[in-house]
Amino acid sequence: MKFSHKYIIVGAGSAGCVLANKLSADPLNSVLLIEAGPMDNYPTIKMPLGASSLFKHKKYGWGYETQSEPNLRDRSINWPRGKTLGGSSSINGMLYIRGQAEDYEAWESAGNIGWGYRDLMKYFISLEDNQNHEDQYHGNFGELWVETYQSSLPASQVFMKACSESGLTENNDFNGSVQEGFGTYQVNIKNGQRYSAADAFLKPILSRPNLELMTDTSVLKIIINNKKALGVQVKNRQGINAITAESEIILCGGAINSPQLLMLSGIGPKKVLEKVNISCSHDLPGVGQNLQDHLTVNISYNIDHLDTFAELMRPMKMLKNLYQYFFKRAGLLTYPASDIGVFFKTNQDYETPNAQIHFAPGAGKYNKDGAMEPISGITASVCNLRPLSKGHIELNSSNPNEPPKIFANYLSNKSDIEPMIEGN
Ligand SMILES: Cc1cc2nc3c(=O)[nH]c(=O)nc-3n(C[C@H](O)[C@H](O)[C@H](O)COP(=O)(O)OP(=O)(O)OC[C@H]3O[C@@H](n4cnc5c(N)ncnc54)[C@H](O)[C@@H]3O)c2cc1C
Repeated sequence: MKFSHKYIIVGAGSAGCVLANKLSADPLNSVLLIEAGPMDNYPTIKMPLGASSLFKHKKYGWGYETQSEPNLRDRSINWPRGKTLGGSSSINGMLYIRGQAEDYEAWESAGNIGWGYRDLMKYFISLEDNQNHEDQYHGNFGELWVETYQSSLPASQVFMKACSESGLTENNDFNGSVQEGFGTYQVNIKNGQRYSAADAFLKPILSRPNLELMTDTSVLKIIINNKKALGVQVKNRQGINAITAESEIILCGGAINSPQLLMLSGIGPKKVLEKVNISCSHDLPGVGQNLQDHLTVNISYNIDHLDTFAELMRPMKMLKNLYQYFFKRAGLLTYPASDIGVFFKTNQDYETPNAQIHFAPGAGKYNKDGAMEPISGITASVCNLRPLSKGHIELNSSNPNEPPKIFANYLSNKSDIEPMIEGN
C-alpha cells in the first residue's frame, strides 16, 4: 500500500500546531495537518478585544451549546470553540496561565507517569519567549510570545487597590513559585495583536517541504481495517476522499470534536454507538466520558464615577481607539479577556488556591447575535479551579455535520457549589 504521509494530524488548533511543528522538524517525517476551518485572516482574530465577536461566528467557530443544564435552571450554555488556523487559541482570552504545581503532581500520582510538574516544566520553559521574566520558571527562547499586560485602565487600578486593602498579597508572576494572590495577567499578545498557537508554532515553519496544510477540509471519519487506523476520510471542495498515513493519525480536534470523531469512526461505548446505528469496531467505554469544565459566574456591578468600556467605546472615543490600534497597535482594542487576576482559597484549610477571578473594567450583556454589548460597570468572573462535576459527550446521529450533544452537568457534584458561593 502506498501511504500519502507518515503522520496525519487532525485539527490545526493549539495541540495540532505544536505537533506539526515538532514532528516536521525531522525532515524524514512527512506530516499532513488537516483543519476544518479557513485561514485565520479575519480582522477580529488578531484584535484582542474582538475575540467575543467570534464566539458565535458561523465561519470561524463551531457554535456549540450544552444540552439544557438541570442545575442551571435548564439553561443551555454557550461553548465557543475556534474553527480556523490556531483553533480555540484564535478566539480565546490569550491569558497565559499554567496549572499549579500540585495539580500536575496529582496527575502523576494518579498513574500518569511523565505528567508531573518537573516533567512538564521543561516543556513550559522550552516553548516560552517571556518578555518580562528571566528566571528558573520561565523560558526566553521558545516559540510562544508571553508578556505581562500593561494595565492602565482606571477601574483596574482601583480593583488592584481593593485587593490589597482586603488583605490579599500582590503576585507579579502567577506562573512563578506560587500562584496565590492578585496581579496582572501574562498574555499571548505581541505588538498589540493576538499571538495564537498558529502564529507561534505553525506560520514560521509552513515552508518546510515535508509539511502539508489543508484548510477548509473536514475529517469525517478514521478509516479502520482490522482494528488498525489506516487513514482518514475527508471532505472539502474536491469532494470526499481518503488519505492514508504510514505511521500515525493524531487527533487534535479538541475536547469535543476528538471524541466525536472517534465515535463516528466506531470507537467508543458500544451501546452509545448502537443507538445511532454506528457499527462498533472497538468498544471503548471511556470515549466521550469524564467531561469537566470550570463553570464561571460573571458578577457585574454598575459604576458611574470611573470610565469603563461603555464610556471608552462611545463613538468619539472609539475613533481614538481605532487610531491607536491601527497606527500604534496600542489602546483599548488590545485588551485581552481580563487584565487583573486573583487566585485565592475559598476555605483557609485548603493548601492551594481553588478559585480564580478574572477582573475586567467593563460589563455587558449579550445581544441576539451573541456579541457582548457594553454597559457602564465592572465585572469579576469567579471560577472554581477544581470542579468535580462530570458530564459527557454523545453523538446526535451518525452524520458528522451534526453537532454532538454536550452534557456539561454543571454543579451535579454538590461540593462544586461552595466555591462558587464563597468565591462571590
Ligand atoms: C472562549 C475561550 C476562551 C479561552 N481562554 C483561554 C485563555 O485565556 N487562556 C488559555 O490558556 N486557554 C484559554 N482557552 C482554552 C484554550 O484555548 C484551549 O484549551 C485550547 O485552544 C485547546 O486546544 P486544542 O488543540 O485541544 O483544541 P482547539 O484549539 O480547539 O483546536 C481544535 C482544532 O481542530 C479542528 N477540528 C475539529 N474537528 C475537526 C475535524 N473533524 N476535521 C478537521 N479539523 C477539525 C477545529 O476546527 C480546531 O481548529 C479558552 C478557550 C475558549 C473557547
